[in-house]
Amino acid sequence: MPPLVTTLGSHSALQILKGAHDEGLPCAVVATRGRDALYRRYPFIDEVIAVDRYADFEGLQEQLGARGSVIVPHGSFVAYLGEAVNARIRLPYYGSREVLRWEGDRALQRRWLEAADIPMPRELEDPAAIDEWPVLVKTDGAAGGSGYFLANSRESLERQLAGLGDLGYTIQSYVVGVTLYVHYFQSAMRDRLEILSMDRRYETNVDAIGRLPMAAQAELEPQPSYVVVGNSPLVLRESMLEEAYRMGERVVASARELMGDGLWGPFCLETIITPDMRFQVIEISCRIVAGTNLFVDGAPYAALFFDEPMSTGRRIARELREAEEAGRLDEILSGPLPAAGTDTQT
Ligand code: AMP
Ligand code: AMP
Repeated sequence: MPPLVTTLGSHSALQILKGAHDEGLPCAVVATRGRDALYRRYPFIDEVIAVDRYADFEGLQEQLGARGSVIVPHGSFVAYLGEAVNARIRLPYYGSREVLRWEGDRALQRRWLEAADIPMPRELEDPAAIDEWPVLVKTDGAAGGSGYFLANSRESLERQLAGLGDLGYTIQSYVVGVTLYVHYFQSAMRDRLEILSMDRRYETNVDAIGRLPMAAQAELEPQPSYVVVGNSPLVLRESMLEEAYRMGERVVASARELMGDGLWGPFCLETIITPDMRFQVIEISCRIVAGTNLFVDGAPYAALFFDEPMSTGRRIARELREAEEAGRLDEILSGPLPAAGTDTQT
């Protein structure tokens, strides 16, 4: 039975479902009533299942499981279903299970990336010992960078930290550079790492502050915020592409060493490029990221591997199809999602 590609109606669902359709796989989307209307507009979606609440997804498992459903997770799974429901889902899903635990815990993620020799902004544990400014304070549970703040001096840092109360936080050195998100795909079937596309996020208001003349900036003193509102495409200087590949390969290799089942499928390194043309990695996301929505019809980098338009969504479906044809589907599917804090953003 071919896998029934199933996802939740949000985030990058259209791309995932279109990809399944283009690869000849059946597909279904589960969406809340009201949001289901969007998905009924597109004839490539075989089935739209409307539910009253996202949590009702749990009750559909038996019906979907009997039809060979494979879940393709995206950034909304934890955001909309909640950790408890995610943990109880028994349907197989595409991707590694253990990797989510490493990704969701900031300390584990740092350990993993450091083991892979990935350059990252310094984490500054003791506010009193900071000798490098500016710093960025990331409050725990801040969604989409909306609870972050900058400090350019000890006085400013202490004043702002005092306002946090009991809220936990992490302090990082603030990297001034161009943000670039690299969309990788680790193929188990072809045993290779592909860079399919890249984007940069458009964040409000930080990406707009540069439009103010300096005098207005000085007068208004705008506090930057990092709320993502969209994504735009970017291609990288070709001389930096090999390093982007090497970073991805190192991350995959250390996942193999650190985690039982490693890392495969789509993942993204979120980088900031500094004026000396070096990457600083601020985060890894171990699934399809929303920036790939720019490339439903293919991307310049994907075109270097494939002679037809290849989005990340379609690449996932291609992998599922090849695995099914080779009788190896089990190798690339995992059991229930772990309960512990998985990232919900990208
Ligand atoms: P994150 O929640 O880690 O994905 O970060 C959200 C946004 O905050 C990023 O897209 C960047 O624009 C910004 N950001 C995060 N960490 C840093 C950093 N260390 N230096 C500069 N900007 C950062
Ligand atoms: P939405 O489908 O817009 O309600 O978004 C669902 C989840 O995905 C939320 O947690 C968003 O923060 C995240 N998300 C949606 N679009 C993007 C994007 N372009 N970049 C990063 N995260 C996103």
